[in-house]
Amino acid sequence: MNIPELFGINVFNDKEMKKRLPKDVYKSLYNTIEQHKELDIKIANEVAAVMKEWAVEHGATHYTHWFQPMTGLTAEKHDSFICPQADGSVIMDFSGKELIKGESDASSFPSGGVRATFEARGYTAWDPTSYAFIKDDSLCIPTVFCSYTGEMLDKKTPLLKSIELINRESMRVVRLFGDTEASRVIPSVGIEQEYFLIDKKLYDKRKDLIFTGRTLFGAPAPKGQELEDHYFGVIKPRVKAYMKELNEELWKLGVYAKTEHNEVAPAQHELAPVFSSTNMAIDHNQIIMEMMKKVALRHGMVCLLHEKPFAGVNGSGKHNNWSLATDSGENLFKPGKKPYENKRFLIFLAAVIKAVDQHQDLLRYSVASAGNDRRLGGSEAPPAIISVYLGRELETIVDCIVNGVEYKGEKVENMNTGLNVLPDFKMDTADRNRTSPFAFTGNKFEFRMLGSSMSASAANVMLNTITADVLREFADRLSTCDDFSNEVELILKETFTEHGRIIFNGNNYSESWVEEAKRRGLLVLPRTIDVLPYITSDENISFFERNNIFNEKELRARSEIAYENYAKTICIEANATFDMARRDILPAALEYSGELASRLCAKKELGYDIGKDAAKRSLDSIVEACDSLYAEIERLEKAIMKARDINDTVKLALYCGNELIAAMDALRVSADKLETLVGAQYWSFPVYSELMFSI
Ligand code: ADP
Ligand code: MG
Repeated sequence: MNIPELFGINVFNDKEMKKRLPKDVYKSLYNTIEQHKELDIKIANEVAAVMKEWAVEHGATHYTHWFQPMTGLTAEKHDSFICPQADGSVIMDFSGKELIKGESDASSFPSGGVRATFEARGYTAWDPTSYAFIKDDSLCIPTVFCSYTGEMLDKKTPLLKSIELINRESMRVVRLFGDTEASRVIPSVGIEQEYFLIDKKLYDKRKDLIFTGRTLFGAPAPKGQELEDHYFGVIKPRVKAYMKELNEELWKLGVYAKTEHNEVAPAQHELAPVFSSTNMAIDHNQIIMEMMKKVALRHGMVCLLHEKPFAGVNGSGKHNNWSLATDSGENLFKPGKKPYENKRFLIFLAAVIKAVDQHQDLLRYSVASAGNDRRLGGSEAPPAIISVYLGRELETIVDCIVNGVEYKGEKVENMNTGLNVLPDFKMDTADRNRTSPFAFTGNKFEFRMLGSSMSASAANVMLNTITADVLREFADRLSTCDDFSNEVELILKETFTEHGRIIFNGNNYSESWVEEAKRRGLLVLPRTIDVLPYITSDENISFFERNNIFNEKELRARSEIAYENYAKTICIEANATFDMARRDILPAALEYSGELASRLCAKKELGYDIGKDAAKRSLDSIVEACDSLYAEIERLEKAIMKARDINDTVKLALYCGNELIAAMDALRVSADKLETLVGAQYWSFPVYSELMFSI
């Protein structure tokens, strides 16, 4: 396989555009893509014709506007290129209008009440800054999605706005520091994606996996992740074959799939592409998730992207590596050899620290979902508390600035392995901290709280917007002050002093951190329903309006959708829990206990003393567990009925979070207990040891 030849074969990328478009059309489009100049509508027809020609050559028969509604998934509606002719034949046709604008029924996508069902019209509009590509014989054109009345209904529009915003405010600061060369600042993102693979035949026997994407039941397997033998372990042949095909599919789609390894939990893996510009990275992450699922099926497996498919072992996250770079190639988060003297770096660092501290609620919100609530704060996942890890060197620098003392520099240690044949090398000035939700990792920040199944859009909208808002304030000050250097020092000292509480270099997994965080006045919001009320505060409404990202109506709609998604997810989980408990687990337990009882009767008839018989003792414990299971089933059933009567979305979400989850979790305890008591062949679905150790 020739990878460079294969790479991007299904993408209408810069190379193809340059090759196929007339020079002036190419130039105009290039300016839009690279310089974000306004799109010249006049070129649309020519671009469409060339795009179609390329697509048809590559086997495409259809085209679709590919967009990202508030479901967090992608959506597509396919039209064929055929255009009937007078003589009964067809030609393949695609106009500029069809490229630029799509019109469809938006009423079946979540709108958070922006639109009533009868006001259905929605539009999709071409996003030329992300390349079109071919998937399943369709030319997919990345688009934004909005309502007839102009409100955004998708995840891409606010992202594009936030990219422009951070460009604008960062550029002001970059210019103030004397850079005349750069013309844009681009937020770059590299997304590490974790996932589980399980056998499809086993998956098909688990209603919980089918309906909710996670196991609602399951006693721990005899072995979990305690031996730490899976992380970076040798990849099994079946998984290797899967990864090979996945890589090839992704490369064809122009995704820079690069790193792959086994993760900590059994059956858990990770894929990381090389970072790229934010818009592309997030589109690509959507493609990665889709391909992961598709390719798994071809290998008789199912890819689970849920944040916590199995209790008791690690869940899956999506680590969002984020940095800011100029188009002349300078990373603004690169500390350089002497970070203490690199004032521009320190100003950008200060902006991020202030932004994160001031807007903990928004970052927490951007990763909030019912699924991620199960993961955050669990095995080896960051807690639901936002803090920033800087590492020893930067923390010392920050301390020096706060205390007004001179920074003496960090001694760079040589790593001496003690073996002559091995090279000595310089050690990094900061260790890694896996437990931090927001870690500075050398020249970027790694935001680790995102859940594996989520769109990475919201998190990046927040990162860009909160940072830009602070950069604007800094730029305003720096452009009107009398003494630039002095003002820089003032800003740094002020910011690090006021917002130092957000810096935490210790163990985020420890219990004591929760107490410490509360003492520092940081937000401790363990559940989605704890954070949602913050989003539509007056402060946040004016924050987003000031930055022109969401208007009040759009923000309220997004909050409504978040409540709705949360409630729906929990209700489905509750229904599935009830169904499996009532129709699978209880019958299995009753059948097995019936069997034990009839054996005991037979023995008794034959004159045996059954008082201490193993069957008798097993029966006793099963009867006891069955009784509690039955009581829990009744409790859950009542709770489900009650939920059905709640019409208000917010009230329902709160009820789900407080009552339904408690009822489900209590039921699970009895059910999992029964799993350990009932004979294996009576249990009607595969258990953890089979699910996690069968590939
Ligand atoms: P880790 O050791 O954290 O697991 P990985 O190699 O798995 O690291 O992933 C790191 C991710 O960060 C990759 O996607 C990589 O391309 C990305 N990355 C590296 N440098 C930058 C940068 N300057 N900006 C954004 N992302 C970056
Ligand atoms: Mg990694």
